[in-house]
Amino acid sequence: MSNILRLDSQQEGFAEKLDALLSREADTGADVQDLVAGILADVKKRGNAALCEYTERFDGWACTGETIEISRERMEKAWNAVSDMDREALQLSVDRIRAYHEHQQQDDWEYTDSVGMTLGQRITPLDRVGLYVPGGKAAYPSSVLMNAVPAVVAGVEEIVMVVPTPGGEINELVLAAAFVSGVQRGFAVGGAQAVAALAYGTETIPAVDKIVGPGNKFVAAAKRQVFGTCGIDMIAGPSEIVVVADGGDPAWIAADFLSQAEHDEAAQSILVSTDAHLLVEVARSIEAHLQVLPRSKIARASVESHGALIHVQNWEEAADVVNVIAPEHLELALENPDEILPMIKHAGAIFIGHFVPEALGDYIAGPNHVLPTNRTARFSSPLGVYDFQKRSSVIRATRAAVEAIGPAAAHLAHREGLQAHALTLELRLKEKA
Ligand code: NAD
Repeated sequence: MSNILRLDSQQEGFAEKLDALLSREADTGADVQDLVAGILADVKKRGNAALCEYTERFDGWACTGETIEISRERMEKAWNAVSDMDREALQLSVDRIRAYHEHQQQDDWEYTDSVGMTLGQRITPLDRVGLYVPGGKAAYPSSVLMNAVPAVVAGVEEIVMVVPTPGGEINELVLAAAFVSGVQRGFAVGGAQAVAALAYGTETIPAVDKIVGPGNKFVAAAKRQVFGTCGIDMIAGPSEIVVVADGGDPAWIAADFLSQAEHDEAAQSILVSTDAHLLVEVARSIEAHLQVLPRSKIARASVESHGALIHVQNWEEAADVVNVIAPEHLELALENPDEILPMIKHAGAIFIGHFVPEALGDYIAGPNHVLPTNRTARFSSPLGVYDFQKRSSVIRATRAAVEAIGPAAAHLAHREGLQAHALTLELRLKEKA
């Protein structure tokens, strides 16, 4: 049987053991930070020349400013070339992601208060965003959809995409996904050098206002470092799942557990149950699946280094454990999931009931699969339309309103020693109506 950590809420030092389980090594050490800082500075200074040198070094193909460009026509060609089943699945996914994200539209609002101030908020989309689509070791068409569709719904004017093409080999399904989800321009570059190009612009790639999308440690470090020059969505770390289960088929639960473990050796899968017998049964099923899954080497490394089976006394304790973990994905594979749901405070996406595996949300359910990881669900949320819009405050006032509240503002300005501020109000208040 695979060697998965077992914890019990009744054992001594449980809280410390849980804490240790959740302290995965940060993947961006000083060496990565320094390497990335050098790449960013070089691309900022030398533009396409540096971008193409790094692309040749890390992705193994010699490019130029012209050859990195992926036109809308090229994306359309890929859309027409993929199979009918590919097109149908992508279109269904886009339609469902759009329908969900349309619910996130924010409206402008305004109100007039008792002194006659009319105050409000205006929502405006970002002008130009850059999607980072990972592509070093695998291709992720679903990431294109999950990043592009909310940007389209938000009303972003220009959506550009970068995607690495190791060996110059471009993934047709990624291009088809870019076409159907509304990406306008693409560039066949990746890594920190592509993030630099999006942040600073080159002769070919336009500088964007925000960079979104997951990537490896070089991409994550680059996003962290360009934040401030442009916006970023979040730093997406290795994937996580917590399954809370009270029975059902152990083979299903084991498959759900492994669905995130197969992503990455650094991924984390945790099962929480009140049923000690179920934990044993699921451990057996995990081993059985690992015998046949093609990515079992990665999945085994993940479950043996970061996985855990946790026995708790009741659902209150289960909710407490979940809230400490604040997982990216939470499955409530329970007979009565609504009993525990109100107690859950921190989770990126919550899948309710025995029949709703997390993979449904990865591809087709509609909610975004770009989710906060590494306990950041305590303070952040899934990628959404909100990430592609911003708010402006709107302030209007009648003369009577300024007369009513202006003296207090002038007083506070004097108290801060800002005489010019006070003057702007006092001059107006002195003027005869
Ligand atoms: P990637 O596109 O993130 O990185 C590939 C690039 O890394 C290459 O183009 C290269 O420029 C750069 N690189 C590689 N080795 C380097 C080195 N030694 N020095 C400097 N740069 C180097 O693709 P990937 O590597 O396949 O990683 C994708 C990541 O994205 C994985 O961790 C995956 O789990 C994650 N992911 C997350 C989600 C999500 O929604 N959270 C979705 C898809 C993928």
